[in-house]
Amino acid sequence: MRNHIIKKQPKTESSSKISVKDLDLQPSIKAFLKAMGEDPERAGLKDTPKRAEQALKYLLSGYDRTFEDESTSFENHVEYKGVIFLKNIDFFSLCEHHLLPFFGYAHVAYLPSEKSYLGISKLARAVDIYARRLQNQEVLSHQIAEAIMEHGMAKGVAVLIEARHLCTVARGVQKKAPLMSTCAYYGAFEDNVALQHDFLELLRNRDKV
Ligand code: ZN
Repeated sequence: MRNHIIKKQPKTESSSKISVKDLDLQPSIKAFLKAMGEDPERAGLKDTPKRAEQALKYLLSGYDRTFEDESTSFENHVEYKGVIFLKNIDFFSLCEHHLLPFFGYAHVAYLPSEKSYLGISKLARAVDIYARRLQNQEVLSHQIAEAIMEHGMAKGVAVLIEARHLCTVARGVQKKAPLMSTCAYYGAFEDNVALQHDFLELLRNRDKV
C-alpha cells in the first residue's frame, strides 16, 4: 500500500455557476456516439444519451452542493477533547484525467474545538460532496480536510483515502487495480506526529469492531 503524505494545497472550489442538474448533456453524448461511427438511433443506443446524462449528473452532483450549506455543528456541552473518527466511508468518484471511476473508502478524524463539534453524518457528507465531482485523489483528500477545518470549527483534521482507479486497469497498465492511499493532515494533525500515529493506529484496528 502506497501512502502519500502531501502538503496543503490551495482551495479548488468550482467557479461554475451553472447547476449540473440543469445541463443538457444529451447532444454532446449523441455527438460522441456519432463520432465513434455508431448510429445513435439504433435500438441499443436510442436511450443511451438520456441514461448517460442521468448517470453523469448523479456522479457530478457535488458541484451543486456545498459543505457550508449542509454542515451543522452542536455545542460541545460535555467538553469532549478526544479525536472523533469515522472509518470506512465508501465513496465513488470520477477521475478527471480519464473520466473513469475510482472508488474506495475515506477515513476521517477530527479534533473538535472546546465550543462545538460536527454531527458525525456531516463527515460522511463532506466526502460525498467532494467525491461527486471530477477529481483526483490527492486533491479530494485535501478538499475534505479543508472543508471540515473551515466550517466545522475543528482544531485539526486528518483524512486518509484508499481507492482503486479503473483507469489503471481498464487501460491495461495493471491487471488488478492497486490500492492507492492519500493522506491530508490539517491544523493540530499537521505537525503532531503523536496525533498522526493515533490516527493510523485507529485505522489499523478498524476491522476489529
Ligand atoms: Zn485516471
